[in-house]
Amino acid sequence: MNALDTLVELSSQMTLEHAEESRVSVAPGGRVVPSGSEGRIETTTEPSKPGCYSPKARPEFTEREQRAAFVHPAQLPNGKSIKLLKTLLSSACERDCYYCPFRAGRDFRRATFKPDEFAGLFSKMNQSGFAQGVFLSSGIAAGGVRTMDKLLDTAHILRKTHSFKGYLHLKIMPGSEKDQVYRAMQLADRVSVNLEAPSTERLAKLAPHKIFIEELMRPLRWVEEIRRTVPAHKFWNGKYPSTVTQFVAGGSDESDLELLNTTQWLMKNVRLKRAYFSAFHPILDTPLENKAAVNPMREHRLYQASFLLRDYGFELEDLPFASDENLPLHTDPKLAWAQMNLIHAPIEVNLADKQQLIKIPGVGMKGADAILSARRLQKLRDLSALKKLGIIAERAAPYVLLDGKRMASQLSMF
Ligand code: SF4
Repeated sequence: MNALDTLVELSSQMTLEHAEESRVSVAPGGRVVPSGSEGRIETTTEPSKPGCYSPKARPEFTEREQRAAFVHPAQLPNGKSIKLLKTLLSSACERDCYYCPFRAGRDFRRATFKPDEFAGLFSKMNQSGFAQGVFLSSGIAAGGVRTMDKLLDTAHILRKTHSFKGYLHLKIMPGSEKDQVYRAMQLADRVSVNLEAPSTERLAKLAPHKIFIEELMRPLRWVEEIRRTVPAHKFWNGKYPSTVTQFVAGGSDESDLELLNTTQWLMKNVRLKRAYFSAFHPILDTPLENKAAVNPMREHRLYQASFLLRDYGFELEDLPFASDENLPLHTDPKLAWAQMNLIHAPIEVNLADKQQLIKIPGVGMKGADAILSARRLQKLRDLSALKKLGIIAERAAPYVLLDGKRMASQLSMF
């Protein structure tokens, strides 16, 4: 198998991993599309299917190579959009996680890159403008430590031999050692450990041979420990890499409260940048093949709730969990909070501080800043003034006062 065939084999499965900063929501019909915290589309996490992505033709790449490039549009933490190659170093795995298509013993064609082989191929793609960043993970062969060494060798060759200066997201393998975590942080812009489930008990239902605390949580703690003790200039571009994790939502029958409780703990204690939630869907020929798929809307509600916890000053107890500890699927959690808390105590837009403003449905971070700037010049008196500032005025209307007046009666204007 040549390097390109290997890439085709490996990258085709990477739709399972979500992309970087893209936020996802569910369009009518259940299609998952990304959106901002207030529901506007920012970018797409949908993979480019072979042939769908059409970069400018370059002489160095054949048509077949262009078809093979599984490049995904992704948004970086700094807001920049790039073409991101998501792939594995190897789809061979000795573990047997119940949900995973790569689990040991499952019958499909496996493929493996040597570190220099992948680095060389990616470098060529990068130089041709075909891909600007890479997300690299791997199945586990001969232990997490050995597999992590291969990922680190690949990253090292990319940075040092090929002088790659672009975005690199490295997955930290379960059971990696602290020195390996440090090395990954020196080479990557982002490192991640997939927790998959929110606790030891839940993980046992998904991945019987992964050890929640020792293999998964400990590397996340090390990342934070290293960030606190090593100066930033020791890292490849003078910055600390960010950290993310991913959960299989609904895979272990856990509740949203359990997922968000662990997410909040990680955000507060190890500065997790964000959690990804991947709604469980069954894979043929795995122990969970007959388990029902989870509604993709659950992903969307979990994202909304996690952004409320991370950016909007909400606490877990503010979220509208039902008696089964799940978020209602039909309601935006911020809207549900406002209905309980603001409908009888609306916020005066001309007096509120930023923390209060961002709790109003329809007002995001940028909207709150725009309100603060605009009201320095003049009072905001009606919904059209809010609309001019980019605020979803009809959503905000029931929960605000503008110059002492309620605005819900003006809804018909919009
Ligand atoms: S260790 Fe990773 S690749 Fe291997 S079976 Fe588990 S989830 Fe899949």
